Amino acid sequence: MKKGFSKTWRSLLSWPKPRGGPRYSACHFCDTLHVSAPVEEGTAANCVRCGAVLYQNRPASLARASAFSLAALFLMVLVHVFPFLTMDAATLRKNLTLVGASTALFHEDAPILGSAILLFTVVTPLVLAGGMLYVCAPLMLGRYAPGAGQVAKWMYRCEPWNMVEVFLLGVLVSLLKLAKVADVHFGIGFWAFGGVMICMAAAVAGIDREELWDRLEVAKS
Ligand SMILES: [Zn+2]
Repeated sequence: MKKGFSKTWRSLLSWPKPRGGPRYSACHFCDTLHVSAPVEEGTAANCVRCGAVLYQNRPASLARASAFSLAALFLMVLVHVFPFLTMDAATLRKNLTLVGASTALFHEDAPILGSAILLFTVVTPLVLAGGMLYVCAPLMLGRYAPGAGQVAKWMYRCEPWNMVEVFLLGVLVSLLKLAKVADVHFGIGFWAFGGVMICMAAAVAGIDREELWDRLEVAKS
């Protein structure tokens, strides 16, 4: 009984290949076309011409992607609940949140910059982490969530626009100037934002794009 359960669980965890074929995979660097063959967990398929990685079978991919997405969503709550930065200048103390910084730019006649911060550091990471969890968590049970294919498409469209790292670097650079006129302290929101950056990167790297599409196709059929 235990052995049977283990076998079923293992088959759900391993990367299934959809029926039919052959399937092809093109190298992103030299466009060489390869027959997409299954690879063992923890290994990668490389281009025969230039050696670039075509796709990787990452260990515990669904569990990793789901866990890091959930952690990123939890940290996002902390980012918006707690202050991002606290500034002390003379007798004034100002707590700054991420959304507060964005709305402040609207009031300072910089609506495009305010919208960009809101879109690239709040909306896009939310779509990416929420989408990843919505698609990957049911797949661990071999189930296809309603509209998972469309969600995955939007998730990967949003991926290049996730600019959490760029924003964090921008904040650190601007702090060098701000430190001359005010005492600046990092709030819990800042550290949580750093955590979001790490968890988002780990969630996206947790599962290969080709594996996710194969799993979706198998679960849907
Ligand atoms: Zn190549």
